[in-house]
Amino acid sequence: MGATRFDYDLFTIGAGSGGIRASRISRHLGARVAVAENYRIGGTCVIRGCVPKKLLTYAAHYAEDFEDARSYGWTIENTSFSWPALIANKNREIARLSKVYADGFARTGIDVIEDTAKLADAHTVEVGGRRVTAQNILVATGAWPVKPTIPGIEHAITSNEAFELPALPKRILIAGGGYVAVEFAGIFNGLGSQVTLSYRGAQVLRGFDDDVRKHLHDEMGKKGVRIVLDSDVLRIDRCTDGSLEVSLTGVPGNKLPCDAVMVATGRNPNTARLGLAEAGVKRDGAGGVMVDRFCRSSVANIYAVGDVTHRLALTPVAVREGGAVAMTLFGGAETPVDLDDVPSAVFSQPPVGTVGLTEARAVEKFGKVDVYKASFRPLRHTLSGRDERTLVKLVVDASTQCVVGAHMVGADSPEIIQGIAVAVKSKLTKAQLDATIGIHPTAAEEFLTLREKASRVT
Ligand SMILES: Cc1cc2nc3c(=O)[nH]c(=O)nc-3n(C[C@H](O)[C@H](O)[C@H](O)COP(=O)(O)OP(=O)(O)OC[C@H]3O[C@@H](n4cnc5c(N)ncnc54)[C@H](O)[C@@H]3O)c2cc1C
Repeated sequence: MGATRFDYDLFTIGAGSGGIRASRISRHLGARVAVAENYRIGGTCVIRGCVPKKLLTYAAHYAEDFEDARSYGWTIENTSFSWPALIANKNREIARLSKVYADGFARTGIDVIEDTAKLADAHTVEVGGRRVTAQNILVATGAWPVKPTIPGIEHAITSNEAFELPALPKRILIAGGGYVAVEFAGIFNGLGSQVTLSYRGAQVLRGFDDDVRKHLHDEMGKKGVRIVLDSDVLRIDRCTDGSLEVSLTGVPGNKLPCDAVMVATGRNPNTARLGLAEAGVKRDGAGGVMVDRFCRSSVANIYAVGDVTHRLALTPVAVREGGAVAMTLFGGAETPVDLDDVPSAVFSQPPVGTVGLTEARAVEKFGKVDVYKASFRPLRHTLSGRDERTLVKLVVDASTQCVVGAHMVGADSPEIIQGIAVAVKSKLTKAQLDATIGIHPTAAEEFLTLREKASRVT
């Protein structure tokens, strides 16, 4: 292991998805490890990201489930919803998870310092009023929501505070069109808030396949979310009765009364006041730590993983990168991270699952592309009568017949796309997918029975 002239072999700044993984694997490989965390062990995903978000998404879906249950013979009367009960239960679960991680650190002999850390030099960290030295330093400080600079922005919340609101807002404006914005639109809408989503662009979910974007937009609209596109939020005013008035373009009179405004307009890497520039660590224009495929920064013994590198802001990516750094440093194997064909989901209502290239990106890359798609009413809704349609879409490189993209909007699509992702990552062909016998009756089998080419795009 590293030279003993240092206090530790690895010092990790940030106990989120990436930092925890790197620390645990490094310790397992025999390294002496310390971690600094200045909020709560678990990081964004556990405390105010994926996990609580998905719990709230389940809660929101019950509204439709209760309605649909009638068509299946159930009588459900006097349903009511308590936001404080949901938040208290969610808080209990994330406290449990945070403790599991903290106990894991203690059990395996990883030292935890609950304070803000910064670099003093390439081998020294200042934390908790002292200086600690390490052979290697891992920056895993994540990202933070950015608020636009408009008058009255102090009245707006971000996803951080949305998880802790004392009461469910009757009317909420959500500004943004990315996955966090559409997910929270689905959550608040399902729980009974009147939701307006204002987005600057021409369609929600920039970067996703165009059919997915349009399909989700239409389905969200059917469920009652008012989506205002090409819209700018200009200012927010607090009224005398405590409610808010938002000035925004795209609505009649350019004014919208509401009770809460949530901005989901992006996240920036947490790199300010970390002493990175002074230590010689290069950052990109957004402040993200620039790294090579081994997650190594411009300073050879300083690594960075996860959202702080401003690449793919997803928990499994941070986890994979953290594990790779540990293997490179202490496992005797230089381990690069391959960020091609990373699947992802949007836990909107209905949810989205996606892997590989969008149709537009595939055309740019391959020229000739075969597109297969189907839109159908899921079996469940033949009885419920709910007007919800599922979209499945495959993008195939016409010359090799490899499936280069798979996209789905509809119930269970994140679960289904996780399986299809193996096919895309393994560069399977359309014929190999077709040779697989489906499981009936499922929505997933639709991916194996797409026969009609929707188009051959050149
Ligand atoms: C609302 C929301 C929903 C999301 N949903 C999903 C999802 O469904 N699926 C998915 O894959 N991803 C999701 N993400 C993204 C996911 O949460 C992040 O990609 C992931 O948490 C990144 O892990 P990380 O280790 O890079 O950073 P983080 O988990 O953010 O951890 C960084 C840690 O560093 C600490 N820290 C920062 N600065 C310092 C310092 N100077 N000293 C000490 N500690 C410091 C922070 O307190 C934090 O605990 C979501 C994010 C948000 C905001």
